Amino acid sequence: MLPPERTPRQRMMDLLIGARLSSHQLAQMLGIPERQVEDHLAHVVKSIGHDHSRRFILEPSTCPDCGFVFRDRSRLTRPSRCPKCRSEGITAPRYGIEAVRKDQN
Ligand SMILES: [Zn+2]
Repeated sequence: MLPPERTPRQRMMDLLIGARLSSHQLAQMLGIPERQVEDHLAHVVKSIGHDHSRRFILEPSTCPDCGFVFRDRSRLTRPSRCPKCRSEGITAPRYGIEAVRKDQN
């Protein structure tokens, strides 16, 4: 019997391990719309939250014009403009999954 096919969400998690990818990159790699990537990401964040061996990394969006970093942003999508200089050239946030190091006895 063949193993069950991996869902887009599982494949997304595989891609994110040790990586830093934007939702646009993920959409291209998975062949699904960016909108769906964002939906899946929300679930990935939740399941990683229950998994103490792994941690979800969110590299925040930044404004290339003034250097503003969207640190407090909890949403996963890209902000549309900079609150400081109103630039619309905000970089996309990037995501990754990292293993949490266990205590080394
Ligand atoms: Zn700015």
